[in-house]
Amino acid sequence: MHSTSRKTLLKRLAAHTMLASDVPVADDSCNWKCMKAENLDAKPANAPLANLEEWEDFLKVRYPEDSTAKPFRAADPEKKKEQCSNYEADARPTVREFYRLNHLHQTYDFVQAKKKEFLSLSRRQMGIWEAMEFLNTLVDDSDPDTDLSQLEHLLQTAEQIRNDGHPRWFILTGLIHDLGKILCLFGEPQWAVVGDTFPVGCAWSDKIVFHQFFADNADSLQPRFQTRTGVYSETCGLDKVHLSWGHDEYLYHVVKDYLPTEALYMIRYHSFYPAHREGEYQHLMNAQDKKMFDGVRAFNPYDLYTKSHEKPKVEELRAFYQELIGEFFPAKLRW
Ligand code: FE
Ligand code: FE
Repeated sequence: MHSTSRKTLLKRLAAHTMLASDVPVADDSCNWKCMKAENLDAKPANAPLANLEEWEDFLKVRYPEDSTAKPFRAADPEKKKEQCSNYEADARPTVREFYRLNHLHQTYDFVQAKKKEFLSLSRRQMGIWEAMEFLNTLVDDSDPDTDLSQLEHLLQTAEQIRNDGHPRWFILTGLIHDLGKILCLFGEPQWAVVGDTFPVGCAWSDKIVFHQFFADNADSLQPRFQTRTGVYSETCGLDKVHLSWGHDEYLYHVVKDYLPTEALYMIRYHSFYPAHREGEYQHLMNAQDKKMFDGVRAFNPYDLYTKSHEKPKVEELRAFYQELIGEFFPAKLRW
């Protein structure tokens, strides 16, 4: 555990118990939030990360802020293969283990099963602000003095988009883009909520980080999943392609009737780093996907690089954002 005091953790744990007591919680072997106070130091094998930000911090190491100085360029042709393996060698053991589990378990069948399990959206009915407060009950080892809460990350992303004069739907997209992380509060393991996403059902691009861990994925033994297009066809469009399961796809289904197409792309593909940063999987994209990925790339810096800025003042911003939410969303949505 890093610098978070035990008292803070216990306080947060208590708050979580109070606020989320009505949530159906799955098997506690799979999630750190369910840890009893007495064994906070022991991470369940399925939850190697101290907090979800460990994955995002690793993204920032791989894609440092100045790499977006050339506006929204996809793959950096100068990035050598050794450089990628250096990131991997230098990754914390917790991050490495997180990717190992992700690449091991995210099979084609796993993704189908999760879609069936979650996309009926029959768990809860909540408004957007309510979902933000719910996500904020996620308990992890983040440091309250330096790390942002989930709510602060959402507000900070939105505020930066707003400061840059973007349209209201874009600001709103920043505000909600990570709400799919409430999957953690439904008992889902870290590796099925966050992590760079990638298509399942076709060959894995060798630009996917920790590619070597796919050797233990059951799909590696299925020849039909191991060709360039796999179960898909050239330029079939990403809507037909199943990506590894996580918070992007889940939230897309919650909000898809309420936001413009550009916004939905940002939400659905913001973790699809192999495509929006590495330029891979172009052969599965149709013309609309290629056009819309300009927006996905425009969104990415707001997500990755706003965290070091000043903490947003939630109470001062609440009225503005509640009005913005009301412009696009009904009072309750199905989750
Ligand atoms: Fe995200
Ligand atoms: Fe985010």
